Order: sequence, then structure tokens, then C-alpha cells
Amino acid sequence: KKLSRCALVTGANKGIGYGLVRALSKKFKGTVYLTARDKERGQEAQHALSRDDRLCEFLQLDVKDRASIEKVRDVIMEKHGGLDLLIQNAGIVGADFYQIRLPDGPMTPPRWIDVADNNHNDVVNEVYSAEVAEDVVQTDFFGALNVAEILFPLLRSHARVVYMSSGLGSLRNLEIVEVKKRLVDPELSVEELKSIANDYLRVAKEKDPGNVGYPKHLGPYSFSKMCLTVLTRLQQRDIDKDESREDIIINACTPGFVATEMTSYKGTKTIEEALDTPLYLAFLPPGSGPEQSKLPRGAFVRDLVEVDW
Ligand code: NDP
Repeated sequence: KKLSRCALVTGANKGIGYGLVRALSKKFKGTVYLTARDKERGQEAQHALSRDDRLCEFLQLDVKDRASIEKVRDVIMEKHGGLDLLIQNAGIVGADFYQIRLPDGPMTPPRWIDVADNNHNDVVNEVYSAEVAEDVVQTDFFGALNVAEILFPLLRSHARVVYMSSGLGSLRNLEIVEVKKRLVDPELSVEELKSIANDYLRVAKEKDPGNVGYPKHLGPYSFSKMCLTVLTRLQQRDIDKDESREDIIINACTPGFVATEMTSYKGTKTIEEALDTPLYLAFLPPGSGPEQSKLPRGAFVRDLVEVDW
């Protein structure tokens, strides 16, 4: 019993996370944990799935609350002795719109756009207060980091980790050369990445109210996802150095622009269509031969293909 396999998805009471648990309940060989920050919403989701003959277990997990993650760790350790699949899906966008400023023109009314698919680099402006910036970065970046810090020690050989990042986290959106240099530095440490994120929040506070301070469009959501994609690379590098662990693969992906509450249902993909890439990464085959070396590792993946970010 100690060795029974298990998978865990964060932020799974709705949206893409819910879709992932729904799919995993049939596809994954082992126990699937649906986790949510709110107990009622989480249990309701679990019941809805069970009515559909999709079985999973529920555990309360708020990515901002380390004590809740430690409780989850203890349950999983006790019941399974390790973790085989971790999908870091929880996230907030913090504002329900992006505004587009035409060059030298007025701001358009707030509306959702698929920035990742269209090259709107020079026309997007995100409007946030320092308070919202704090909430977004604490959830989307530091929250995922909390989960990693507490649950990574449980990852068994052949475990897979998937981060739900975003095309908005592209380095193209970052105009500060010096920060960019640090982010692409192969020697960058996780501690240094944390301090880059804390600097961002410090600047946001200084510039409040209004734009958070980084030039133009790099709002806290895009910034957090950028940090998440960088973190993926650093964590793969670091875990590869640990000889006690074999064949653990960590990747980040974008699901595309998906119709969920986050996008006010404006996304062009259905949740079902959005699952392809995260599920592909969740089920990367075990092994370590030359075939394996071609698989994405510490990478950013879009539509099943590793892409430059
Ligand atoms: P939703 O808003 O539909 O769902 C987000 C989930 O995250 C909810 O379950 C929410 O819980 C949960 N969550 C928020 N804060 C926390 C927290 N502190 N602890 C635990 N869970 C939390 O979003 P999507 O399903 O659209 O997005 C899922 C992921 O995919 C996100 O990371 C998002 O950034 C990413 N993504 C989505 C895209 C899209 O087009 N939809 C595009 C690119 C990336 P609650 O119900 O309690 O708020």
C-alpha cells in the first residue's frame, strides 16, 4: 500500500485543473488528488466527478498557505510514500482585462485578447495596483514555489511535474536587459530568482497606483508566468544533479487561450482541447535512453512542441 501511485493537481475545483483531474481519473494508474483552496468548492467538484463515474480524492490546498501544503504532504507520505505526478495549475490573473493602446492612440475599452497568439507586444498595457500585483505574484509564482519546496522531496523516480505557465510569460515581453540577462543565466539560482520577484514587488509598491513599474505590458501575471518558466529550467537542472533521483522530468506549458472563468469565457479553446499538452507532459514515457533525450525537459511546451520562450 505504501508504494501505491498518486497524482496531484492544484487549483482543480474548476477550469483546466478540473478538466485535468477528470481526464486523469481515467488515464492515471493510481490515486488522483483533486486539491482546492476552498474545501466546499473542492468537495463539490469531487462529487460532481464521482456522479460521472470519475473517482478522485479531495485534499484542501491553498498554494499561499504553507501549512495546508504540509498537511497534504503528510497525508500523501502516509498513504503512498511518494508522489508520481504533480500538476501545478493553480493561478489567478488579478485583473479581468488587458487594455490595448494603439501606438500614440487612445486606450481601447478593456477586453480580453490572446496576447500569446498575436504579436501585441507594443500595444498591451496591464493595469494593476501594488496590492493586486502582490496577490498575483504570491499566488502564481511564490505559491507554486511553496508547493515545489514542500512536495518535491516526495517525487519518486520517473515522476513528472507540469507547470501551467503562459505565453504571456515570454521573455520577449521583458525590456529590462539586465534582468533578462539574469533570467537566462544558466547558473541562476532559485534564491536569485526569488529576489528578482521580490524586487518586482518592491518596484510595484513604489510606483503604486498605476502601472507596476516594469516597462509597458509586463504586469504581475505575465511576470509571474515568466518566473515560473525560468523556475522549471532551474529545477530540472538542480534535480538532475541529485544522484538519488532518477528520471524526474519537469516542464512548463501553455494550454493556449482557453474559455474558463479566468478569461471570462473569451478563450478560443475548450477545456478539453487545452488538456493535450499538459497530459502529454504528464505521461512522458519512463527511461533514459537516446529517445528520452529528445523529450522536453525543463522546457516550455506549446501545442505538444518545445518552443522558445
Ligand atoms: P480558473 O480561474 O478557471 O481556475 C483557476 C484555479 O486556481 C481555481 O480552481 C482557483 O480556485 C485556483 N486557485 C486560485 N488561487 C489559488 C490558491 N491560492 N491556492 C489554490 N488554488 C488557487 O483558471 P484556468 O483554469 O483558466 O487556468 C488554470 C491555469 O492555466 C492557471 O495557472 C492559468 O494561469 C493557466 N493558463 C490559463 C489560460 C487560459 O486561457 N485560461 C492561458 C494560459 C495559462 P478558486 O475557485 O478557489 O478561485
